Amino acid sequence: MAKHTIVLIPGDGIGPEVTTAGRRVLEAAGFSAEWVELPAGASALEQGFDNVLPQRTVAAIAAHKIALKGPVSTPIGKGFTSVNVQLRKKLNLYAAVRPAHSMPAIKTRFENVDIVVIRENTEGLYSGLEQEIVPGVVTSLKVATEVACMRIARYAFRFATRQHRKKITVFHKANIMKLSDGLLLTCARRIHEDEYPNIDYEELIIDAGCMRLVQDPTRFDILLTENLYGDVVSDLCAGLVGGLGVVPGSNIGEDAAVFEAVHGSAPDIAGKNLANPLAVIMSGVMMLRHLHEMAIADKIESAYNAVLSEGKSLTRDVGGTTGTSEFADAVIARLK
Ligand code: NAD
Repeated sequence: MAKHTIVLIPGDGIGPEVTTAGRRVLEAAGFSAEWVELPAGASALEQGFDNVLPQRTVAAIAAHKIALKGPVSTPIGKGFTSVNVQLRKKLNLYAAVRPAHSMPAIKTRFENVDIVVIRENTEGLYSGLEQEIVPGVVTSLKVATEVACMRIARYAFRFATRQHRKKITVFHKANIMKLSDGLLLTCARRIHEDEYPNIDYEELIIDAGCMRLVQDPTRFDILLTENLYGDVVSDLCAGLVGGLGVVPGSNIGEDAAVFEAVHGSAPDIAGKNLANPLAVIMSGVMMLRHLHEMAIADKIESAYNAVLSEGKSLTRDVGGTTGTSEFADAVIARLK
């Protein structure tokens, strides 16, 4: 019997290509899993479900606790709430963890970048509370609760401690949003002072923070943000280390965890065997570590680092000509 049960959501656009590649690599490395494949996104509608996030998919993740997910597209203007927002709220996946670090042989402007973005995943401007007050006047509510701010701040400090990291920087705009962003700062300061005084702590107004990030990303360690800033800053950090094809992610809750790349469904390259599957493979490695499958995780990490260092089998986004499935083949060939 397989040791783990994993819900696999292929998703939309490049999702099926990159998740297939990811699953192949995990299995070739010796990961023993029963895969429960379920839809989400536009492809769920195409398969006859009446919602972009079928109840069956949510129930399976709640039951099995772990999912590996491809990117999804939510049809805009058709009344559907974003799949990702729904999923993160329904399963209370409150912490998005997105490591962006320099990769072997991928040339970028900076070397030795090693940043983890920790993003609050359940509220802020993603609360979905929008309304038209009168024709021509609409509002989007930004929500911050003490419970969620304390929870994400504590998660960030605990993560820093467990991962032997030194510093947390909160990106905020509390000079303007004094109450909502101010609450995150109050909570982060409290956790820092009361529970983790040994971890360095700083606060930067996000506009100045972004400037510093692109001037010298090596001065940053962990970035703690509310929901929207975390979304934007994650892609910015991806750009610093080689793009969206090389940045993995996880969405962590008390009871379940969903692992997925930071990138979207990339409709411009979907179905062409052009996408870089590395971000999903790396998300799979994060999943393996979450499941305490350290040896298999290390084996895959060494294999893809070797492929990158060799430089012969790179996908187009990082300067090569290798296809999605051929990149996975190259990683599999390097597994020892
Ligand atoms: P995107 O991340 O899909 O694409 C941005 C650019 O990066 C495109 O040029 C794309 O070709 C490239 N890219 C992305 N992933 C790549 C990969 N693995 N290899 C090579 N190149 C890659 O962002 P977008 O175009 O703004 O969004 C497209 C759709 O994806 C939208 O419907 C959006 O809502 C959705 N989306 C979903 C998720 C998710 O499910 N987690 C995240 C972000 C965006």
